[in-house]
Amino acid sequence: MAWDFETDPDYQAKLDWADEFVRTEVEPLDLVWPHEQFVPLTGKRRAAIAPLKQRVREQGLWATHLGPDLGGQGHGQVKLALLNEILGRCSWAPIVFGCQAPDTGNAEILAHYGTPEQKERYLRPLLDGELFSCYSMTEPQAGADPRQFTTTAVRDGDDWVLEGRKYFSSNARTAAFSIVMAITDPAAGAYKGMSMFLVPTDTPGIEIERDVRLYGEPEAAGQHALIHYSGVRVPDSALLGGAGQAFVIAQTRLGGGRIHHAMRTIGLAQKALDMLCERALSRETAGSSLAEKQFVQGYIADSWAQLAQFRLLVLHTAWKIDKHNDYRKVRKDIAAVKAVMPTVLHDIAWRSMQVHGALGVTDEVPLMKMITGAAVMGLADGPTEVHKTTVARQVLCDHSATEELWPTEWLPRKREAALAQYADFLGDER
Ligand SMILES: Cc1cc2nc3c(=O)[nH]c(=O)nc-3n(C[C@H](O)[C@H](O)[C@H](O)COP(=O)(O)OP(=O)(O)OC[C@H]3O[C@@H](n4cnc5c(N)ncnc54)[C@H](O)[C@@H]3O)c2cc1C
Repeated sequence: MAWDFETDPDYQAKLDWADEFVRTEVEPLDLVWPHEQFVPLTGKRRAAIAPLKQRVREQGLWATHLGPDLGGQGHGQVKLALLNEILGRCSWAPIVFGCQAPDTGNAEILAHYGTPEQKERYLRPLLDGELFSCYSMTEPQAGADPRQFTTTAVRDGDDWVLEGRKYFSSNARTAAFSIVMAITDPAAGAYKGMSMFLVPTDTPGIEIERDVRLYGEPEAAGQHALIHYSGVRVPDSALLGGAGQAFVIAQTRLGGGRIHHAMRTIGLAQKALDMLCERALSRETAGSSLAEKQFVQGYIADSWAQLAQFRLLVLHTAWKIDKHNDYRKVRKDIAAVKAVMPTVLHDIAWRSMQVHGALGVTDEVPLMKMITGAAVMGLADGPTEVHKTTVARQVLCDHSATEELWPTEWLPRKREAALAQYADFLGDER
């Protein structure tokens, strides 16, 4: 019998360590180097951050997203969820713990589909935190629908030559390599005719046309690249997981990526709720504290319950991933987590922002950034609508249509059947 909501004491001690460490040592990095999480470490940044990473390693908490067979710590997704909700409070924490997106997803597919040579060249330094990677799938004219992708990779002797444009390829400017999705067999269709390529970012023919910034980011902070791959030549050994495998690989990658975002979002939403409660208790207006106003109490109660529901869904999904070790069996759960995540973060951050008054909409508190972050969560790794469609389709698989005119739960027919079933006990009462 394995129903249990307790964390084992040894791991809880590690979580307590991580919580204290993130609050005191890592959160300040967000203010010192707010936009340099994905810039390889050099000079003073290396001197400051490498020792922090070393302390995480000594706790056995480095790169916990992969099992030991794949080069990680092997704590599983439930324990990763508990850790990630601590790391979600700040943007440097995943980097310091070696489990940041999009590198986690990229490491996962390299571990699953990479050849020994590819793992040695790309996965090992990625896991060591020595380089960053980019996932280059979305195109300017098509994101949610891969059937509209046009980037191609054509064989030329022993090489492949890539041609096309990709959009929102996060961190391309600082990554050592990109995983590029391209059509290799147009006749086979989108789901069987595309392949993934491991492409070093210094390969001739790669041109970053511009680095797109998210709303509110400063001039030089854009990290979502519009890239032109123009006659980019890579050897056959750059093919990841075999020709025609891109779609299958993408599902592996995105499954993990989505649930990890959700785990971190719990931490961010908790931070917004903590801020809401502190403000409510601290601010006096119209004769009492905000905490005593029923409207504000409603905000707090709704936020707490929304977060608790979301957290249980995430943890249950993580538990199912550990149990089945097969993302296909938890597609519905991951899609549901992904679909509700933006709303949970948005609603809690919004209420917190409102209760902070004018201060809430300034850049002196992190609430507007969280609200923008919620909008991002509704798009990155696929729009909410598409994930809801997935949930609905999977739910419908467990149901079937009735042959009857009236629904199965039509009470007149059910009542008649019930009365017939218990007729011997009813006598004249009928
Ligand atoms: C911060 C951020 C980082 C990202 N990082 C990466 C990255 O590293 N690599 C990468 O390849 N991509 C990345 N993306 C791109 C992301 O995956 C796409 O934005 C997403 O797949 C949606 O594609 P699109 O923007 O082209 O929107 P579209 O596909 O044009 O969709 C626009 C809207 O149409 C609606 N819609 C679309 N399809 C359906 C449907 N089937 N049913 C109902 N409504 C629908 C939705 O409202 C959707 O938001 C990132 C995006 C963001 C915001």
